[in-house]
Amino acid sequence: MVWVARRWLSKMAFEYEAKMNKDRVELKGLFPNELGDAVAGLGLARYRTRQLVDWLYNKGVTKFDDMTNLSKDVRQQLTDNFTILDLNVVGEVKTESEDTVKFLFSLPDGRRIESVLMWEGKRRTLCVSSQVGCPLDCHFCATGKMGLIRNLSAAEIVDQVLYGQRFLRQRGEELTNVVMMGMGEPLLNFDQVLRAIRLMNLDFGAAIGIRRITLSTAGHVPGIKRLSEEKLKIGLAVSLNATTDAQRTMIMPINKKWPIAELLAAVKDYQTYIGRWITFEYVLLHGLNDSADDAHRLIDLVGDISCKINVIPWNPIDGGDYQRPSQKAIDLFVEILAQAQLTATVRYSKGDDIGAGCGQLYQALETVA
Ligand code: SF4
Repeated sequence: MVWVARRWLSKMAFEYEAKMNKDRVELKGLFPNELGDAVAGLGLARYRTRQLVDWLYNKGVTKFDDMTNLSKDVRQQLTDNFTILDLNVVGEVKTESEDTVKFLFSLPDGRRIESVLMWEGKRRTLCVSSQVGCPLDCHFCATGKMGLIRNLSAAEIVDQVLYGQRFLRQRGEELTNVVMMGMGEPLLNFDQVLRAIRLMNLDFGAAIGIRRITLSTAGHVPGIKRLSEEKLKIGLAVSLNATTDAQRTMIMPINKKWPIAELLAAVKDYQTYIGRWITFEYVLLHGLNDSADDAHRLIDLVGDISCKINVIPWNPIDGGDYQRPSQKAIDLFVEILAQAQLTATVRYSKGDDIGAGCGQLYQALETVA
C-alpha cells in the first residue's frame, strides 16, 4: 500500500512537473540560431546566448541559478521561460570484462531508457535510444515486447550523448562514435532523431563527427529514402536477419509492409548517395535462417552492395522461442559468405551479462560506426 501511495505521489509529481514545463522551451533541443532567437525574444542581449552555451555544454550546468555570471533577474527570466533537461541516471551496470557499461536513465515523465557505452581499441561507442519501447515487435527483441510508449524528443536523445561524453571526459577519454541502435526504431521518430544527430554533431556540444554516427533500422523504407534527401552522410545499418520474405515476415512483421526487395532497393540508393559501406545485421537463429541455403541466398541478395555483415548468433532472452545455432552451423554460414568475398564477422555477445541486448544487436556496435 505504501508503495502504491508512493507511486501515486510520484505520478502526481510528474504530472505537476509536466504542467509546469508545458509552456517552457527545452534548451538542449535548440540549434544555436534558435537559442539566439529565444534569448533575443526575451529582450536579452545576443551575447547571453554564448554565455548560455558555455554553461550548458562546457560547464554542464543544469540549473539557471548556477549560472553565476548572469544577474538574478536574467536567471529568473530564463527559469520562467526555459527548461534544461538533465537525464537522471538511475542505474549503471558494467560487464565483468569492464568494456561495456549500460546506463539506465529516468526521463522527466518517469519513463526509462537505456544507453550502452562500449570500449574497443581506440573506439568509444555509445548506443542510444530513440523511443521508449518500440512498435515494430521484432520477435527476437526484448524492447519489441514493450510496444511503443512514446517517442523521445531531440533533447532526450542528444542528452544521452552529452552524458556519455561527460562520463568519458571525466576519465580523460573522448566519445568517438554514436550508433542509433538502442530502444526504438529511429526512422519512426525521424524529425527528432535528425535534429538530435545534427545537435550531437555541433562543435560546442558532444562534437561527434557526422561520419562517426550510424543509424540502424529494421527496414523502414520511406525513412531510408528521406535520409538520402536530408543529405546527411551518416552510416546506415540494416537489421536484415532473413533471406526470404516468408522467413523475415515471421520474425519481423515490418517485412509485410516493406519486403526484402523493396528494402534492398532503398538501401542501394542510399549507398549510391553516401558512397560508404552499408552494415547488415543478421541474427542467426537455429533452424530458421542458419542453413547453407540461407548463406547462398544472402550472397545473392547483398552481393552487389558494398557491405559488411555482422552475423550474430542468437542468445536467448527471457521468453525467447529461438535457439542458438551450433558452432558448426555458425562456422559454415560465415565460411560460405567468406568464399563469396563478403566481409562477414561473427559478433558474439558483448554486454549480455548486463542485459545490453536490445534486439540482440548491441554486440554488433563496434563494427557499424
Ligand atoms: S529490434 Fe529494434 S526495431 Fe525491432 S523491435 Fe527491437 S527495438 Fe524495435
